[in-house]
Amino acid sequence: MLQALKPDVGMISPRTRARMVARLRGEGIGDGRVLGVMESVPRHLFVAEALASRAYEPVSLPIGYGQTISQPFIVARMLEALLEDGIPRRVLEVGTGSGYHTALLAALGVEVFSIERIEALHHAARELLGRMGVTRVALRLGDGSQGWPEKAEFDAIVFTAAVPCALPPLYPQLRRGGRLLMPEDLGEGQRLRLYRWDGREAFGDDLGDCFFVPLLAGTVTQRNQKGA
Ligand code: SAH
Repeated sequence: MLQALKPDVGMISPRTRARMVARLRGEGIGDGRVLGVMESVPRHLFVAEALASRAYEPVSLPIGYGQTISQPFIVARMLEALLEDGIPRRVLEVGTGSGYHTALLAALGVEVFSIERIEALHHAARELLGRMGVTRVALRLGDGSQGWPEKAEFDAIVFTAAVPCALPPLYPQLRRGGRLLMPEDLGEGQRLRLYRWDGREAFGDDLGDCFFVPLLAGTVTQRNQKGA
């Protein structure tokens, strides 16, 4: 049924997604829940039609406005890290982008609160997720670097843009035992880090190198955007 949303992308079949999942398994992704949703959510709908045939390749792809949809492996790795202690109930996502990561979280049964600073991407994600019938997702246009205090507490917070080390962490919006997952910009490269918050202190794990677009301040609206 979802395939019918873009009927002209004839080459893209569930088999293409199954191949992507087999590759992810070979790359060390072992969580069946993660592999299951990546097999069911049609990633090609989240990129422009001209790129749809490349949507399942192991690459990140442009989604316009200088932003990218992360490559499948890093998305899977992030989901796996978030799910280690069970599926979180409420997750704050900073950086909706195409809405792909949002859709995967929703497919896992998570209630997702997602913020995007670029109005055009926010609207496109809202439209697509609506058409796909994705529920239990609240999308907001704005600068997510301060989180979404009105909706706290969250079981997990995930940034899909690289966070400068100087950004004050959003622990006050996490429940005790919650997790903060983010690419940290160290000046020389980025590392994907997972912090567990015990209510007083955070304990971090390093999940390796990564490359994300930077977290930026402010909001880009249709009125103030230049040359997108
Ligand atoms: N998870 C997305 C990845 C998008 S890339 C996907 O699956 O497609 C990261 C996104 O973070 C971009 O869309 C960028 O505009 C957004 N972003 C960057 N800084 C932000 C901020 N301060 N607040 C909210 N969104 C931000």
